[in-house]
Amino acid sequence: MKRVLILGGGFGGLATAHTLRTLRPDDEVVLVDRATHFMVGFRKIWDLLGLSPQPAVHGRLADLEQFGIQVIHGAVTKLDPDGRAAEVGGRRLEADALVVALGASLGTDRIPGFSHYALNVYDPRAIARNREALQNFSGGRVLLGVFGLPYKCPPAPYEIALLVQEFFAGRGVAATMEVFTPQPSSMPILGQAGCLVIEGRLMARGITFLPNHTATAVEEGEVVFTTGRRPYDLLLGIPPHRCPAVIVESGLTDGGAWVSVNPRTLETRFPGVYAVGDVTQVLMANDKPLPKAGVFAESQGRVVAHRIAAAFEGRPPDVTFEGQGGCFLEFGHGEAAMIEGHFMAEPAPQVRLTEASKEYLDQKQAFEQERLRSWFPQDDN
Ligand SMILES: Cc1cc2nc3c(=O)[nH]c(=O)nc-3n(C[C@H](O)[C@H](O)[C@H](O)COP(=O)(O)OP(=O)(O)OC[C@H]3O[C@@H](n4cnc5c(N)ncnc54)[C@H](O)[C@@H]3O)c2cc1C
Repeated sequence: MKRVLILGGGFGGLATAHTLRTLRPDDEVVLVDRATHFMVGFRKIWDLLGLSPQPAVHGRLADLEQFGIQVIHGAVTKLDPDGRAAEVGGRRLEADALVVALGASLGTDRIPGFSHYALNVYDPRAIARNREALQNFSGGRVLLGVFGLPYKCPPAPYEIALLVQEFFAGRGVAATMEVFTPQPSSMPILGQAGCLVIEGRLMARGITFLPNHTATAVEEGEVVFTTGRRPYDLLLGIPPHRCPAVIVESGLTDGGAWVSVNPRTLETRFPGVYAVGDVTQVLMANDKPLPKAGVFAESQGRVVAHRIAAAFEGRPPDVTFEGQGGCFLEFGHGEAAMIEGHFMAEPAPQVRLTEASKEYLDQKQAFEQERLRSWFPQDDN
């Protein structure tokens, strides 16, 4: 019997654990997470704005024991990739294969003033406080923006802008909205035509789009950019992301910002050690990083599970990461679109923005339900 240690119970870790459980029913599959529950990323925005078509449902990680997945609740404080081991609660856990799926950390401290003045819309612990701030807002200038690259789910800032605008309009709150990004366009991977659709949607709803805006600090009532300042009455921010410190300290990032992996196999340079999802940097054929998204973390997790199973059985692994999938972009007014395609295609990614429709919004709702149904026992959901 072999043991696989999976660090992180998000999209990547859950997909790895469940796939391994199916492929290698007799092996020990151990999953570590400091959180008690799993939640889909976009649920934060639905909960923030009271938009949820379904009651808020979060998967309880401890329930994975019912599938034979051993769950350890605790923080990973040390990683030893040479020994395929990790330290949790002062205890060293060793394994035959190690999968690192700890996601991206939010580096709010990288922007002076951010924690004090901005509503961090990516922090699940801030949902209640953010909701209260939105509900109490009586009107004025709303500034929403991206404080660092890369960040999870590239369409999310525009989705949040459109949904927040709809939220205020529905309450008769007079808000002028601006959304900024350091990038030259809303979603460069879509090319000019796709960006114009997104930026046109923003404009149609009276939201000013501010590309090439690199924020360096937040002060009371103003965001400081490299090119000047902009005032706000309410500031919603997506903070810079970074690789969790425990991973950086282990040497897995090789001095870079994220874990370097083979883009097709998710192997690190340490034998038997894999990394999946937001902790990695995978370059596409155009040398730009693959967007950080749950769909990719999930498919990478499945690939890694297959490759670990093959390695344990002494046969050549035949499954590789292909980078197919997409992220939803909710436009408000009951519609969503998808940014989808073949992100790892050669010689360049093939990615498009679909038409917006009610069907895509239905698919987005189903996306959450399907994950919760297949990863957690149904009685609790
Ligand atoms: C607003 C928003 C909307 C989004 N919409 C979409 C979408 O439509 N489609 C899509 O595909 N993706 C979307 N995403 C992105 C998606 O949520 C992430 O890309 C995905 O969660 C990454 O999966 P992961 O497994 O790499 O990391 P995560 O899902 O973040 O999981 C990491 C896990 O590791 C745990 N952890 C971290 N550090 C430690 C530690 N030291 N010790 C123990 N445990 C630790 C965490 O508690 C967490 O459970 C969205 C994200 C946001 C914020």
